[in-house]
Amino acid sequence: MSWPTLHKDPASFRVPPNLEAYETVRERFSWDDARAALDGLPDGAGLNIAHEAVDRHAAGPNADRTAIRWLAKDGRVRDVPFGELAALTARFANVLQGLGVEAGERVFLLLGRVPSLYIAALGAIKHRAVVSPMFSAFGPEPIRQRMEIGSGSVLVTSRRLYERKVAGIRDQLPSLKHVLIVDGADGLPPGTLDLEVLLDAASPDYRIGPTDPEDPALVHFTSGTTGKPKGAVHVHEAVVAHTITARFALDLHPDDTFWCTADPGWVTGTSYGMIAPLALGVTMIVDEAEYDTERWYSILEEQRVTVWYTAPTAIRMLMRAGDEPRVDRDLSALRFIASVGEPLNAPAVIWGQEAFGLPIHDNWWQTETGAIMIANFIATEIRPGSMGRPMPGIEIAIAHRTGDDEHPGVELVEEPDVEGELALRPGWPSMFRTYLDMPERYASCFRDGWYLTRDLARRDADGYLWFLGRADDVIQSAGHLIGPTEVESVLTAHEAVVEAGAIGVPDPVAGEVVKAFVTFYPGIEATDELLRELHGFARKRLGPAVAPREIVVAERLPKTRSGKIMRRLLKARELGLPEGDLSTLEAPYDATPPGAAGTSAPDAAGEGPS
Ligand code: AMP
Repeated sequence: MSWPTLHKDPASFRVPPNLEAYETVRERFSWDDARAALDGLPDGAGLNIAHEAVDRHAAGPNADRTAIRWLAKDGRVRDVPFGELAALTARFANVLQGLGVEAGERVFLLLGRVPSLYIAALGAIKHRAVVSPMFSAFGPEPIRQRMEIGSGSVLVTSRRLYERKVAGIRDQLPSLKHVLIVDGADGLPPGTLDLEVLLDAASPDYRIGPTDPEDPALVHFTSGTTGKPKGAVHVHEAVVAHTITARFALDLHPDDTFWCTADPGWVTGTSYGMIAPLALGVTMIVDEAEYDTERWYSILEEQRVTVWYTAPTAIRMLMRAGDEPRVDRDLSALRFIASVGEPLNAPAVIWGQEAFGLPIHDNWWQTETGAIMIANFIATEIRPGSMGRPMPGIEIAIAHRTGDDEHPGVELVEEPDVEGELALRPGWPSMFRTYLDMPERYASCFRDGWYLTRDLARRDADGYLWFLGRADDVIQSAGHLIGPTEVESVLTAHEAVVEAGAIGVPDPVAGEVVKAFVTFYPGIEATDELLRELHGFARKRLGPAVAPREIVVAERLPKTRSGKIMRRLLKARELGLPEGDLSTLEAPYDATPPGAAGTSAPDAAGEGPS
């Protein structure tokens, strides 16, 4: 389905865009120039993320500028200026030093979005330890798995999280030497240390040691379809990509108030919810609470957020909540909105325009890429539903895998509008450098000098990229390869549908046929008539071979903690297959109880493919 292109009026930009002439900037771009915008450690001692994000601002006129504005769940607000952040992170680095923790050792974080999380992460990076933030909602098993794969020697957590999730598995973590409790004042669990006491006793001065830009700084775990999570390793050099992409794709300027809603347990919450804004000297909002419609609108209003980076799942929740919570708000400070993590359906892009007077700018990247690779930029037109165009400095191809395991190859697709796998030319600074303990798995991501993303996409004649689905989720029906996104974007264009997840289910004739799960806007009843209409709507736009054979109306869809619909779980439940690694599942998922919502097979709706 194609939607009208959104053109922008340059007079509407409140500040001159960082990226105006896309083609020219792309032609002239060099990573060396991007690197030159950073300071590097004094005396040529290398490049350290924490120096760029904290110390260099603390030493200059930005010392009193708020680095982090923390909004506590209970309404308290704490501002941490760059100067104070420098001292606190120095204290944390000194605590590690005092404990004998060495450069390269792994420090795991299990905390909600509280200031200590940011202080520990940046302090550990100062000390050249390798940081791995975990979602605080993880249960003991995902924690154990990650700390085992990462040989974590330090864990920073809260008393409650430790007692509930770690104490019972501590004896299974032989590498874990120190547990630092951030709120130990009222009593410490046995075998742990009180971080506040250690910080108070530590010096607020710390000189960062020589840091090779290729030294590891972060590990982010990403779920595999089966088995164990993979620990993608990122190095200090990544900050070069974090900063330039935040300038180009998020249009961050020094005076912005920036809110990235992601948790640092997901790579977005680290690259853009911590490193990029701080490294650019921008004030960032950190909200401790989870999504809540009223709260989110009041944050945008009261904090005068200028640039907002969020995810499609949150945008769809705001859409679902209707206009009422928003209409009386003064959201005039907002000047740029971006989204990542999942396909941003065209209606959501356009909703942004209607609700905020600003379209939502989709961008694409992965844990492995470390930073935004494809984006819709502020000064360029938006083709709703498209991920946009490659970042300057990023070479992208649409590829088909050729050969076999022994002679793997790729064939690049030059013609427009042919689907294939999204491939990136390695060499950008934030590219992952390995998967912990899985060197073969890492090596298998590369073929003929390309990094293959396992995402399917097509490129139109003007270079805009359109997402079609994960390679693992692709549906093969009667000789067609169907990307679930094609089906879902049509279903979500229907006015009753908020979200959709499409999977392939076996069919004796077609191989597979499409089955879709949808959620409806509140108050809309899943009548047979509406389902018939939805089938007709999909069939008219997709054709009988691609339209879903069956549509199930669910109360909700299974999602990851970063908001991605877990199609693989929908499929496993449907077919009784192994469910694989579910450690990032947001909440237990039960298939919709019978009778709770509607379902329609072709017979019921009379709309199956012919
Ligand atoms: P993660 O590594 O958890 O950040 O997940 C990365 C995956 O999320 C990508 O490989 C895509 O499958 C999906 N993804 C991220 N951004 C987008 C986007 N803008 N459109 C469609 N899919 C996306």
